[in-house]
Amino acid sequence: MQVPPFDLTEQLQQLGDDLDTAVLQVLRSGQYIGGATTHTFETSFAAATGSAHAIGCNSGTDALVLALRGLGIGPGDEVITCSFSFFATAEAISAVGATPVFVDVEESSYLIDLDQVEAAITPATKALLPVHLFGRPVDMEQVMAIAAAHGLQVIEDCAQATGASWAGRPVGSWGDAGCFSFFPTKNLGAAGDGGAVTCRDDALAQRVRELAVHGMPRRYLHTNLGYNSRLDALQAAVLNVKLPHLESWVQRRGALAQTYRQQLGGLPNLRLPEAGPAGHSWNQFVVRVPNCPVSQTSCADQCSPAANSADFGLPESCCRDWLKQELQASGVSTIIYYPIPIHRQPAYAELGYGPGSLPITERLTAEVLSLPIFPELRPAQQQRVVEVVQALVKQPLAA
Ligand SMILES: *Cc1c(COP(=O)(O)O)cnc(C)c1O
Repeated sequence: MQVPPFDLTEQLQQLGDDLDTAVLQVLRSGQYIGGATTHTFETSFAAATGSAHAIGCNSGTDALVLALRGLGIGPGDEVITCSFSFFATAEAISAVGATPVFVDVEESSYLIDLDQVEAAITPATKALLPVHLFGRPVDMEQVMAIAAAHGLQVIEDCAQATGASWAGRPVGSWGDAGCFSFFPTKNLGAAGDGGAVTCRDDALAQRVRELAVHGMPRRYLHTNLGYNSRLDALQAAVLNVKLPHLESWVQRRGALAQTYRQQLGGLPNLRLPEAGPAGHSWNQFVVRVPNCPVSQTSCADQCSPAANSADFGLPESCCRDWLKQELQASGVSTIIYYPIPIHRQPAYAELGYGPGSLPITERLTAEVLSLPIFPELRPAQQQRVVEVVQALVKQPLAA
C-alpha cells in the first residue's frame, strides 16, 4: 500500500459535481475578475474567520505583503517573527523593505517563544508576526498583551491554520490583520494559488483592497503604488464549494492526529507533537527523531549524513533522514517541514545569523518529519503508517 503525504482524489469524488458546476458557471459567465463569486467568497470567509473584512488576493505570500504595506510597514522598520516557518513569512517582510528579526521557537510547541520576544524589541520594531505553524494556534492573548505594552502592530500568519482558533476565537481575528493561503495543501485549498487578508478596521480593509489593485480607489485614479494581486473568480468558485466543509475537515484532521498520538505514543526515540490547545487545526502532524530510532546502534552507519546539515551549519539529521528513507521504502511518503531554517538560508546571509544563533529552531530542522495527514486519509492508510513506523522504531537496523 502506498501512502502519499497529500492526495485530492477522494475529496474530488466527495465534492462530486459541485466543483464542475461552480467552475463552469464562472467560465460561462465571462466574469473572471471580481464580481459576485469573489464577493460571495470574501463575505463567507470573513464570517467563517470571525473578521469584519476579508480581501481575496493572489496567494498567502501576497496576503502578508499587502497586510504589511496596508499597516504602513516599510524601510527602516523591524518585524519580529520566527525562523521556523515557510520562507514566505520572512520574504514578505523583506519585500516591503522592512527587516525580519527572528526569535527562537519553543521546543514543545514548535511555535515562536513569546518569552523571548520582548528582548528582541528595539526602537525600530513596528510589528509582531506570529506564525500558527502546522495549524497550531499561537497564544494570541499573550501576543496581544506584548503588542499593547509596546505599541506594536500584529500580523498573524494563518497560512497553515485556516479553521484554527485560540481561546475559542478564530486565528486571524486577533491581530490587526490575518493572512491566509489557499495553496492546495493548506486546510482550505483552491485549485491553484490564492490567499486572503482579514481585518476588523474598515480603513485598513480599504487600503489593502486598493493596494491589491494598483493603488486604485476608483478606475484609473492611482493614489498609491500598488500591485496586481486578486483572487480569481474561478478560484473563488472552488473555495465557495469547499468552505462549508472546512469545519468537518479540520475535525477530521484532529481525529487523525489523536489516533497517531494514541498509537505511536511511548515508542522509544520518537517524539510526538503535543496535543496542543483546543482549536489546533493540524495542517501537519510533525514528529521528531532526535536519536537513532533503534537503540544501541547508530544511524550514521546506515545513512550518509544529509548534505543540508553540513552545508548550512546545522545539527546532523541522520536519524531523521534514516527514518524518512525507510518509511519511503515501505511506501509511506513523508515531508520535512523545513530542512533549512529561514535564518540560515543563503538569501538571508546578510542578516548575519550564524550557526547556533537560534539553537532550538536549528535542532528541530534536523529532527522533524511530517507524517501523512489530510482529511481523506483512509483508516487503513493511517494504520499502515502506524505499523511501518512501529516496526522501524522497534526493530534492529538491517546489517
Ligand atoms: C504556505 C505559506 C505561506 C505562503 O502562502 P502561499 O499561498 O504559498 O503564497 C506563508 N506562510 C506560511 C507559514 C505558509 O505555510
